[in-house]
Amino acid sequence: MSERAVHKGIAVCPGVAIGPIWVIDGGLTNPPRLRVGEARIEGEVERVFDAMESARSKLEEAKASLHETHGEIYGQLLDAQLLMYGDAMLRSGVESKIRDLRMAGEWAVRATIDELKAPLLSADSRYFRERAEDIELVGRQILRELGGGAIRLPPKDAEVIVVASVLSPADAAELRDSSVLGIATESGSATSHTAILARALGLPAVVAAHGIAHRAEAKRIAIVDAIRGEVVIEPDEAEREDAERRAERYRQYSLGLKARRDAPVVTLDGHPVEIYANVELSFEVDRVVKQRAHGVGLFRTEFLYLNRLKPPTEEEQLEVYRRTIERLEGRPITFRTFDLGADKMPRFERGIPKPSVSFGRTGLRYALSARRLFRTQLRALLRAATHGPMSVMFPAVAGVDDLRAALTELASVREELRHEGLPFGEPPIGCMIELPSAALRSHRLAEHADFFSVGTNDLVQHTLAVDRNDPFATGYASPLEPAVLDLLQMSVASASARGIPISICGDMASDPVALPLVLGLGFSQLSAPIAMLPMVQETVRRVALEDCKALARDAMAAASASAVRALVREAFGEALGELWAEHGAFD
Ligand code: PEP
Ligand code: MG
Repeated sequence: MSERAVHKGIAVCPGVAIGPIWVIDGGLTNPPRLRVGEARIEGEVERVFDAMESARSKLEEAKASLHETHGEIYGQLLDAQLLMYGDAMLRSGVESKIRDLRMAGEWAVRATIDELKAPLLSADSRYFRERAEDIELVGRQILRELGGGAIRLPPKDAEVIVVASVLSPADAAELRDSSVLGIATESGSATSHTAILARALGLPAVVAAHGIAHRAEAKRIAIVDAIRGEVVIEPDEAEREDAERRAERYRQYSLGLKARRDAPVVTLDGHPVEIYANVELSFEVDRVVKQRAHGVGLFRTEFLYLNRLKPPTEEEQLEVYRRTIERLEGRPITFRTFDLGADKMPRFERGIPKPSVSFGRTGLRYALSARRLFRTQLRALLRAATHGPMSVMFPAVAGVDDLRAALTELASVREELRHEGLPFGEPPIGCMIELPSAALRSHRLAEHADFFSVGTNDLVQHTLAVDRNDPFATGYASPLEPAVLDLLQMSVASASARGIPISICGDMASDPVALPLVLGLGFSQLSAPIAMLPMVQETVRRVALEDCKALARDAMAAASASAVRALVREAFGEALGELWAEHGAFD
């Protein structure tokens, strides 16, 4: 058995953690190769067939729920997978492997699924590759049933490093009140939704660590170094001591920043900047107040939907929104309507074959294609607006037609509530700028919105054709790319010409290198993950707005992202070098 290994990845939530390894999904991709004795063969076949039946009936339930929420056509999307359960090759493949080769159920299922997929994967046709994906999903459903029906999350009190090949945002959200110390995954990028969840949990995390899940199986200890961006499996004694030292150093640095949370967030030349928090999970709200954030600039409501077999009802949502508003004690909050689809597919839609890229039915398009779901949320939000200062904004608006369609739906919901005599408020309605088309036409969108909020994670993804979930694309996904800066500048100009506020809530607002540029481009309202707030607040205190503006002017004239990066380093190395070092920014 090989021992020590170092895997490079991307640090997405700073800190260093050391602890026992817990591989979360190893059993799905690489179950243990156990054999069963003669006497257990019948029982083993029965166990697997029961698991298949249970997986099939859950899929039937999901189909019925989809049918109910979205209509027949969506229910039918699960039919290809449902048919697989009755497939003779699947059943006979598994059965013969158990009977003839004495393979244990999990191994037999994995081997059969891999056999069935192989010829489809080598085909050129996309249709066949999608069918291979269906077979894989069916296999995973059965394997999950065999392992107790769920991904193997650690017990709540286990202080472990979670390692996974793929950790979905929904599964990451399940770690919310666990004792997990750190996270390491093979998939993802700095702005993937799993990374966003790791930041929400405040856990040191490294994503895009190639090959790590397989390598970590049957190993004991790992270091997640989310400053250097690496994971060490089975570190030696000296490495462990060094990691302990670095973990302590980062803790002290964080405590130092937190101790300054009451200092005003004003630039050196006296310009105040409003720093808001991004919230994914409602338990985070108390930390917003503790860290002296101005309010919540982005509440990602889709996380209320992910881990559910049925969507939340209007009353349930109203209760969450109302409680959140009240816990903020008068600070404003912006709720984004659910931004579902792509990697954020709710459980009630799981099993629908996913497109290979995330440019399909997502964001506002998803909402407009699921009107009932959308109207239920709009009703809850409008009703919540009587409880305190709040706004609503729409994700991934592509253009004026999209925005108008959403506004029309909102007007009709308002009318409905009025008719029913239910009290509701009139929150400002914002438009997210996260598609290049929206930035390019922001002057027209501004005519229909009360405010803008820029989602740079998607803006970078769509401008530069870099899939947020693809580790390969990471090097290409720079918010410092002049094409992105042009779009930001346009959006700021459109907002200012129309006199509406504009904020930025993508991760560019918490990137210590990009921050001076964000300020220089004219953003004075930023929203960042709570774990990053102290650093963002401190960065503002250490720079002069005039210098930031000069930097932005130079950057707009630069030829490339690397040239912009060099400009930032030169202009702010002295003021921010210490903060950058703590975040491994120029390593
Ligand atoms: C963004 O795209 O920058 C954004 C804030 O939205 P999300 O990260 O949830 O897609
Ligand atoms: Mg987005």
